[in-house]
Amino acid sequence: MYRGERTVSDRQKNPSQSRPRVIVAGGGFAGLAAVKQLARQPVDVLWIDQKNYHVFQPLLYQVATGLLDPETIAIPLRFCTRKWPNVRVVLGEITDIDLTGRTVTAAADSFAYDYLLLAIGSTTNFFGNGELASRAWDMKGLTMSLRLRAEILESLERAAMETPRGQIPALAFAIVGGGPTGVELAAALSHLVRHEIPKDYPELDTKRIPISLLQAGDALLPSLPPAIQAYAQARLEAQGVNVRLKSRVQHFDGRTVTLDNGECLAAPLLIWTAGVHAAPLIAKLRVSQGPGNRIEVNRNLQIPVHPEVYVLGDLTFHKDALWPQNAPFARQSGTFAARAVLNAALGTGPHPNFRYRDLGTMVALGPMNAVVYLPWMGRLSARGFSGWVIWLVFHIGALVGFRNRFAALLDWGSGLMNRRPAAGLIVSYDKEPASKK
Ligand SMILES: Cc1cc2nc3c(=O)[nH]c(=O)nc-3n(C[C@H](O)[C@H](O)[C@H](O)COP(=O)(O)OP(=O)(O)OC[C@H]3O[C@@H](n4cnc5c(N)ncnc54)[C@H](O)[C@@H]3O)c2cc1C
Repeated sequence: MYRGERTVSDRQKNPSQSRPRVIVAGGGFAGLAAVKQLARQPVDVLWIDQKNYHVFQPLLYQVATGLLDPETIAIPLRFCTRKWPNVRVVLGEITDIDLTGRTVTAAADSFAYDYLLLAIGSTTNFFGNGELASRAWDMKGLTMSLRLRAEILESLERAAMETPRGQIPALAFAIVGGGPTGVELAAALSHLVRHEIPKDYPELDTKRIPISLLQAGDALLPSLPPAIQAYAQARLEAQGVNVRLKSRVQHFDGRTVTLDNGECLAAPLLIWTAGVHAAPLIAKLRVSQGPGNRIEVNRNLQIPVHPEVYVLGDLTFHKDALWPQNAPFARQSGTFAARAVLNAALGTGPHPNFRYRDLGTMVALGPMNAVVYLPWMGRLSARGFSGWVIWLVFHIGALVGFRNRFAALLDWGSGLMNRRPAAGLIVSYDKEPASKK
């Protein structure tokens, strides 16, 4: 798409254009990595997202628990593209993709492409349980994390009002999912409730507020070695988190969680971190799809019958490759696809097959404590303070932009020095559970 062209009909009126038109759909990890590669290259790039910013999702739990300001983990797309004259940003929800006609519809306009890099990511998967979808909270996005922060703080305010001194507050938190997100959230929530909140709510005995982490499998952090799993569990338990393994949630009535063994658990605030499926638009596309509506691709991330379409990040599925839904895969897929498009468009020869490089896993377990597992460094693992230093260096480097890195250091530093947490304001958000976003 050359600059100034907006619609298919505009392009048809002006057939002289010759630069390949590339649409990058989605401004997440995959979309950003792709656009970075395409910047300043002889292609015209249209970058579409329904939000005007890129968000660093792995730190959303820190926004939900007041450890980081929301703007620290996000960056406007137009700020990224300031120095990229061949990239145009369109803010709007993509409502249709015509794979045969090679057009994308967004913001009530239709845009033609020669190459499409599809990277619109995933949404929370409640596995068809409507009860959970309408009552549980999730953190899939900045708005939802801010609403969750408001809800956590409001529930503490209500408990402070309603609980006579010396009595246990009628409040309990439960987190579903023992993967990295659930574990990090449990540790951060426990730090907030057990260490930060008591300073401001002397009338509330927050040590006795239950925080449960419910994991369907028989270990936390299933992809990590058993020693790290055991360490993480012991660490959470030492912080007052009730870790419950083999506990699959079946019902939630808004106050009580029922497990598949019939056991009931009071938890007025239930946070769901137990899975994702492809963004809803994908279900409408007539392409072969795998688990969670992910799109089946070949080894080069292309849709076999539409090789001009590359599928990236959380949307990608290959029946023989165990590609994960995580940030490193999303970034690597975006970089690979953009290079492949440049090779094809500029006729610079074939591009090698995509190869995923597992960069490992890092999970924060509260202030100055983390577990790290790096398979590419001789299966190096670290835990405790040394793990946290690696976690810190990596996350500071991974945030986009100097301002965000500096702000994160400031927020974490002030937290460690026992100063005011980054964000403790209850700001008025339209509070609704996940499905009503
Ligand atoms: C709470 C949380 C914690 C996580 N923690 C980790 C972690 O610790 N480590 C790790 O590696 N991974 C983590 N992940 C997973 C990781 O964030 C994702 O795998 C990664 O973001 C996928 O990148 P993506 O580009 O495919 O999609 P996303 O980053 O989700 O980006 C998709 C983009 O598409 C846009 N979009 C969606 N639908 C439309 C539409 N119809 N029209 C226009 N735009 C649209 C969205 O606004 C978004 O900007 C976490 C995810 C979450 C939610």
